[in-house]
Amino acid sequence: MTESFNSTECLGSVLRHLEFLKNMDNGWNHRLLYTDAWNMAMDELESWMLSGNMKTRRDALGNLYGRIEGRSDKTVLLLSHYDSVESGGSYDGALGVIAGLAVLDTLFLKYGTPEHNIELLAVCDEDGGRFKSSFLGSRAITGEISYEEIEGLTDAAGLSFNAARERAGLAPIDEEILKSCKRSDILCAFELHAEQGRKLYDSGIPAGIVKTITGQYKIKAEFTGEANHAGTTTMQDRQDALVAAAELVGFVQQLARQSGCDSVGTVGVLEVRPGATNIIPDKAMLIADLRCPQSEVLLNMGCSFEKKCNELALKNGLRMHIEYLCRQMPVPMDECLTGLSREIAEELNIPYLDMFSGAGHDIQIISSIAPGAMIFVQSERGISHSPEEYTDAASIKIGMDILGEAVYRTAYKTCSQVSHSI
Ligand SMILES: [Zn+2]
Repeated sequence: MTESFNSTECLGSVLRHLEFLKNMDNGWNHRLLYTDAWNMAMDELESWMLSGNMKTRRDALGNLYGRIEGRSDKTVLLLSHYDSVESGGSYDGALGVIAGLAVLDTLFLKYGTPEHNIELLAVCDEDGGRFKSSFLGSRAITGEISYEEIEGLTDAAGLSFNAARERAGLAPIDEEILKSCKRSDILCAFELHAEQGRKLYDSGIPAGIVKTITGQYKIKAEFTGEANHAGTTTMQDRQDALVAAAELVGFVQQLARQSGCDSVGTVGVLEVRPGATNIIPDKAMLIADLRCPQSEVLLNMGCSFEKKCNELALKNGLRMHIEYLCRQMPVPMDECLTGLSREIAEELNIPYLDMFSGAGHDIQIISSIAPGAMIFVQSERGISHSPEEYTDAASIKIGMDILGEAVYRTAYKTCSQVSHSI
């Protein structure tokens, strides 16, 4: 390494941009797809890209690109998302986008035209806060999203996807428009993100190099029994749907604990019908979220969950229906690019942790069309998806130094790690 990327000069602008965004929406961070706050933030980001010598483009879905032209027809991509969850924090996604913006700007000012194009991608919808469809932006880029799926989406107010687009001044999506979002020229991709957990914070290690992004099942289980009088129906005559669902909640906890391998299990949704103190519930629906970075363990967790549902239905005289809402296997990051990230961290004397990500990220989707790497920095107390989330300037600088050097070596130099990857 002759001269490493040093983010000292651009760190101030990153902090100013993050602060600007925080204040723009009165601190709400309510950037749900196609809302006014989302639109305003995208406009602002585009103007920052333009002042940073980038050519900008929005695809039909709303993904925003800032591009520095290179000599070849291949592209090194830096990405993160620009939407937020409802009342989210100021760093989730936004940190990666704004840090990426500063990295590109600095590289261009320092080294001029790169060998390969460099693009900053601000993904329009990762968290899926409005339409409950995760990774919408990146799945449009890989071509994994169908028009039928888009057609079926509605927000909490019952507004269809295309009606929401119309309100935001965008043309309705059709099959052809969706296809136009696809990319096939990506050489490699990097995502910088604050860790959404406390491994780095607790260990005091400043950087994380992600080896694998965890697998995730979201399983909807519905029990149907018989509604009847709570006072007159004897205990042996009951078909109480909630009794089965309640036992299943405890089972999910036990299942995750017993599976080991960093498995986790959550029931965050439980609906009971009819919901009266004097009526035995005839319907209970819950959604279990099971995650594990090891494929085989996750598969076993899914099987055990299904088996338990059948047992509980039989034991309580109920009918039962299971539906997988998400069946995402663990995604390993590209070995060569994670090797490059490690090498850079070592050269820069930055202690790092080899780790898995317990949260999903756009890079796991983009990894199906290009080799990808992910870098984590600390989030104070591991807090994420909350207005309380915070990453300090020193951590941001560490992330940008690794990211900047990795982009320099892949876009300006034809580094062996990338040519080996593709
Ligand atoms: Zn995020």
